Amino acid sequence: MEGRILAANWKMNPATKEEAIRLAGEIDDLLSELPLVRLLFPPFVYIPLLKIRNLTLGAQDVFYEEKGAFTGEISPPMLLSVGAKWVIVGHSERRNVIGESDEVIRRKAEAALKAGLKVIYCVGEKLEDREAGRHFAVVENQLSYVPVSEDLVVAYEPVWAIGTGRNASPEQIEEMHAFIKERTGLKVLYGGSVKAHNAGELARVPNVDGFLVGGASLKPEEFRKIGEALAG
Ligand code: PEP
Repeated sequence: MEGRILAANWKMNPATKEEAIRLAGEIDDLLSELPLVRLLFPPFVYIPLLKIRNLTLGAQDVFYEEKGAFTGEISPPMLLSVGAKWVIVGHSERRNVIGESDEVIRRKAEAALKAGLKVIYCVGEKLEDREAGRHFAVVENQLSYVPVSEDLVVAYEPVWAIGTGRNASPEQIEEMHAFIKERTGLKVLYGGSVKAHNAGELARVPNVDGFLVGGASLKPEEFRKIGEALAG
């Protein structure tokens, strides 16, 4: 995987397929020239509807079985068959809202890799962990479940920085990314309230191989500015 990675995580947005098609088209045009690996993670149902040329599509989650009696789940081969090439696993909203365990996340990552999908594997501590000085221990434990593969990148997303407008400081990011790289040898993206106004500073942090962007990826002009900052 050559180059820095810019990933848009739309979460459960936008509300309609018409909006999704329009938004994806705008982002596709605005980012077309940027020398980055450009990834878009829309909700599952929009994936086959988005005819884009300059972005690679992925899914925000996946199940670890190929087929069968798993109501509501989506398998790695299903994702591939509708054009997804990447998947996010272990996002903090899946860990903390849906209640996924490290073991489940590991199985999802392994199944996705085996099927030929590339993986963004999210890790990150909660505010109480950071305040108690446990952040390295928490992330180290999460990393112990990561299947190391050249098709997998880690995203460090401190939970207290996601969707809060509060991002980690350059020092906090640099030291945690160094810690993750030392243990895994993998690329590490940063995620947590990356916006146009802070992207330049965050892009210059050593050991940052890209961004995973939530809220700002729904605003095409702002997302392009983040991409420009990352491309340097
Ligand atoms: C995310 O969804 O992974 C994320 C980092 O969200 P936000 O950019 O909105 O904090």
